[in-house]
Amino acid sequence: MGSEPKLNLLLTKDEIAIAVTRLAAEISRDYRDKNPLLIAVLKGSFVFLSDLIRQLDFPLEIEFVHLSSYGKGTESSGRVRMAPGAPSQIKGRHVLVIEDIIDTGLTAAFLLDHLRRKKPASLKFCTLTDKKERRRAIVNIDYRGLTVPDKFIVGYGLDCDEMFRHLPDIYALEQ
Ligand code: 5GP
Repeated sequence: MGSEPKLNLLLTKDEIAIAVTRLAAEISRDYRDKNPLLIAVLKGSFVFLSDLIRQLDFPLEIEFVHLSSYGKGTESSGRVRMAPGAPSQIKGRHVLVIEDIIDTGLTAAFLLDHLRRKKPASLKFCTLTDKKERRRAIVNIDYRGLTVPDKFIVGYGLDCDEMFRHLPDIYALEQ
């Protein structure tokens, strides 16, 4: 048996709430009259999405896409998989991708390429957290919540082997 993982508090729920409110204001300014289509990347972004959309007081639609690049544990497989049932009505829509975290950028680059081919009217990218040190793909981040260090983080929707998603704060996992 390995030792128990240790959780070090990195971002409190209050710090996260401030970032979410700022992002909601930026998104409201840009999308108020556009009936945007928000595409949230499962599973990790569901907590962020639910807090964010309750601060957006204008018409919008929501779809989900299930992508995975991490298998078990904390190391990226480097390959991105998309589950069947991805949103299809993209053409002519103002699309905003909602992510919990961008790390190497491979997942975001894959999804944005896929969506761009479906000819949206506009395509932008919003992430709650940005682990910039590890970027391998060039991705333009239109809405960035918080920059995080090169550590594996959990909580506020983010998991490790499906655990810790329910925690209200964000922690760095020390193994
Ligand atoms: P990327 O393709 O940018 O390397 O990674 C994006 C995906 O990897 C995220 O959507 C998330 O699922 C996972 N990921 C990357 N870094 C972390 C992390 O620190 N914690 C957790 N829980 N997932 C991460």
